[in-house]
Amino acid sequence: MRKIIESWEEKALSGKGIDPESALHVLSTPDEYLFDLLGAAFRVRLRHKGRNVRFCSIVNAKSGLCSEDCSFCSQSRVSRAEIEKFPLIDPDEVETRARAAKESGAREFSIVTSGVGLKNWKEVEKVGEAVGRVRALGLETCVSIGIVDREVLRYLKEKGLSSFHHNLETSRSYFPNVCTTHSYEEDVRVVREAKEEGLWVCCGGIFGIGESDEDRVELAFTLKELDVDSIPLNFLNPIPGTPLEGRRELTPLTCLRIIAMMRLVNPTKEIIVCGGREVNLRDLQSLMFVAGATGTMLGNYLTTLGRPPEEDIQMVEDLNLTWTVGGSR
Ligand code: SF4
Repeated sequence: MRKIIESWEEKALSGKGIDPESALHVLSTPDEYLFDLLGAAFRVRLRHKGRNVRFCSIVNAKSGLCSEDCSFCSQSRVSRAEIEKFPLIDPDEVETRARAAKESGAREFSIVTSGVGLKNWKEVEKVGEAVGRVRALGLETCVSIGIVDREVLRYLKEKGLSSFHHNLETSRSYFPNVCTTHSYEEDVRVVREAKEEGLWVCCGGIFGIGESDEDRVELAFTLKELDVDSIPLNFLNPIPGTPLEGRRELTPLTCLRIIAMMRLVNPTKEIIVCGGREVNLRDLQSLMFVAGATGTMLGNYLTTLGRPPEEDIQMVEDLNLTWTVGGSR
């Protein structure tokens, strides 16, 4: 097994990455070789990404009231979860939240809205103004605003947008089990267009929603083919009131294998561990950086709480990794 792990490491160190068959094998690495795997993933991360950790923060800028039926999401039309619901917030509020995120140590700040896309041009302009305000604070700017047209991407880029976030959630094969109100191709289309428009594209998925190891590998290779810049990984937090309430499929070690697989398939990309890390990785959270993650979210998630930013900063410093506040691409 050690020899096999060494061969994966070599391929990833070269920048090429491992093939789908090996990726599947990574996901079933026996426990006794898990630390060999993590060591390999860590060296690959050091070679291509150095020691730096990116901290991102988000604001839930429009909550609930979504027309879509994504099974894991507390904001979907089929969710009965008790969450706050509100329309698009003002740029002033976004700026206040971004300032606080910067003070906590964030490098990037994302404006996240529920829904399959923005409702009208008035909303686009409001988001554009908010992007400009975040940019003026010296933070990298990101939006997660669903499926939008190229025209919207161009407009927001002119307003100072650097990154566009849009998750594919899972593999193309499994997606119909997760969402039936829009197609995978629509998600892929906006990701491709954001890349073509020169934005930094952050695109990943969520794990623990009933997908198989094959689906996990399929997603990893779709992201590779799309050449996304950054890969956010979410692990299901089965919120009461959602169709996936009570589902617990992941163990901390499974999460680490998924992160390592993603690193070995996409050796040169950012890998950001986002929602669900506290409940799924528990005491093993710091190992996500050893497994190949290069970033995480600081502060709260969309409808659930994160842990205090100081604890995450301490975790990174204890691993002898570095981090920077604010930034620009
Ligand atoms: S993930 Fe996005 S599109 Fe899907 S239900 Fe939630 S808010 Fe709506």
